[in-house]
Amino acid sequence: MITTIVKPVGYCGGVTRAIEIARTVKKENPDKRINVFGMLVHNYDVVNKLEEEGIHTVYVTDPIRQLNEFTKDDIVVFTSHGHPKTYSEILEAKGITYYDAVCVRVKSNLDRIANAPGEVIYIGYADHPETKAVLALRDKKTIALYDVHSGMDATVITTMNPLVINQTTLSITELNKIYSAIKFKYPDAIYSDEICSATRLRQQAIMNLDEDTDLIIVVGSPKSSNTDKLFKLAKTHYPNANVFKVDNIEQFSRYHLNLKHIKKAAIAGGASTPIEQVEKIERYLASQ
Ligand code: SF4
Repeated sequence: MITTIVKPVGYCGGVTRAIEIARTVKKENPDKRINVFGMLVHNYDVVNKLEEEGIHTVYVTDPIRQLNEFTKDDIVVFTSHGHPKTYSEILEAKGITYYDAVCVRVKSNLDRIANAPGEVIYIGYADHPETKAVLALRDKKTIALYDVHSGMDATVITTMNPLVINQTTLSITELNKIYSAIKFKYPDAIYSDEICSATRLRQQAIMNLDEDTDLIIVVGSPKSSNTDKLFKLAKTHYPNANVFKVDNIEQFSRYHLNLKHIKKAAIAGGASTPIEQVEKIERYLASQ
């Protein structure tokens, strides 16, 4: 069996930086409770490892209440996905220290939207933290949400040339389909494709595998948007291949697959997947 690792692989720059920030904050404040507000990385193995290091994840269900529960013994770290400004304002008012690990790509997207001269159509997933951070800007400007699953919401766009901008981890092909739908309604819309390079390069690489690849394993947690896109692209582009999405080697090995007939395998990882998880699966395939 020939095995290819789809590159780039391992954490993207934004995830690497967010983990570094959280670990530095913990090291410099050993006696404080370090709370990451949301999943720092959309990977359960990584989040569990951080928990062992004393970096606690707060799963956000009721943000205002949860933020108000912090005390001066807490330090809060906001994730790479961005957060509504009101969240940090709550902490500032209570005198609680916080750090913002927002990815520079997400931050520049938020700034572009905030400073756009006209109306905005934002393409993303309604339940993704990046989308929530964008929609929090609605107090200043008109932003319609084009949810990838359910289409455009009821926000009224009055001009024919809104700025169309998107979540950083969407699928290239999915975005092009949505563009066509928007173009039909807003022929003069202005497009700003914000899929980040970490996401785009992985998607392009998975679409450029040998056509006769017969096993593709995409490694990453269900919460990871860009991992999900890699999986869907692999399923669409290689209809004859066996395509799996797994969290880690433990999950993959539970399938007890007979791999003797596999000639070409490929392993891909999302931007939040540690490279070690990919390498473990590579070693497993080599041992078959
Ligand atoms: S996937 Fe892209 S936007 Fe998201 S953290 Fe990584 S580099 Fe930043």
